[in-house]
Amino acid sequence: MSIDSVYVPGEIPQTYLAQGHTQREDSPGTKKSWAPAPEPLPVPVMDNHTHLDFGVPGAGTAAAALDAAQAAGVRGAVQVGTDLESSREAVRLAEEEPRLLAAVAIHPNDAPELAAAGTLDSALEEIGALAARPRVRAVGETGLDYFRTGPEGMDAQQYSFRRHIGIARRAGVAVQIHDRDAHDDVVRILKEEPLPPAVVFHCFSGDAGLARICNENGWYMSFAGTVTFRNAQGIRDALAIADPSLILVETDAPFLTPHPFRGRNNASYMIPYTVRAMAEIRNADLAEICTSIAANTSAVYGSWD
Ligand SMILES: [Zn+2]
Repeated sequence: MSIDSVYVPGEIPQTYLAQGHTQREDSPGTKKSWAPAPEPLPVPVMDNHTHLDFGVPGAGTAAAALDAAQAAGVRGAVQVGTDLESSREAVRLAEEEPRLLAAVAIHPNDAPELAAAGTLDSALEEIGALAARPRVRAVGETGLDYFRTGPEGMDAQQYSFRRHIGIARRAGVAVQIHDRDAHDDVVRILKEEPLPPAVVFHCFSGDAGLARICNENGWYMSFAGTVTFRNAQGIRDALAIADPSLILVETDAPFLTPHPFRGRNNASYMIPYTVRAMAEIRNADLAEICTSIAANTSAVYGSWD
């Protein structure tokens, strides 16, 4: 695969669909074409979390998706791996394409299966080797998912999460956390482990209570299209009180398309819809919030150039 590979929407690996992304609220759209382009942002930001290999609108290339993003004021993205294959792919893309950095990990919902097969430790070893590459600036998505994985998988998930935190710390890069219905245990484990230089709650799904904990600990909150969803007042309450120096933005594309375009595939060029909603929620000036998101993003991942 390369930056000029065509990524067809809907061609999401079955393993990932099993990872909890089949729910209605975060399914990729059934309309596979590009939604209208937003007015570009006044100050460019980065998309902190995307999966180009899960599909680009219009069956485009990764390069086309990044061109569209740039035209909308989204200068680049973190391409995120969820298993060994997609983590290797993320590194390949980021080494080829200056607008991408990579994150590598075994998804929490894969951990129990790999543990049962006796291959989790060897997979984590390879993740550790990939994390040392210069274009890899985060280990993730890792964390806990109690929505999709039952009690029988908790031990393996928690073990895998702790190991990923250690990998990030040794590599000196951020950890990107997938936290689904598991806030308490995620916070407990973060408090028990020596931490890497930055902790990011990817697709922040907590309420004001969790935002307060993040504020106190200097943990970053990356907001996705979910902050625009009608039923997500808790996430908006969290954003309203989040420390401005800890706020990031992401798509989790092709999932979590912002309102009013749910039903379409998400992509990095749609970030302005989310950022404008964020500015409104915080009663903030759009250029100011963009400037601070851009600075926070550099603080977490370093420079793309
Ligand atoms: Zn993701």
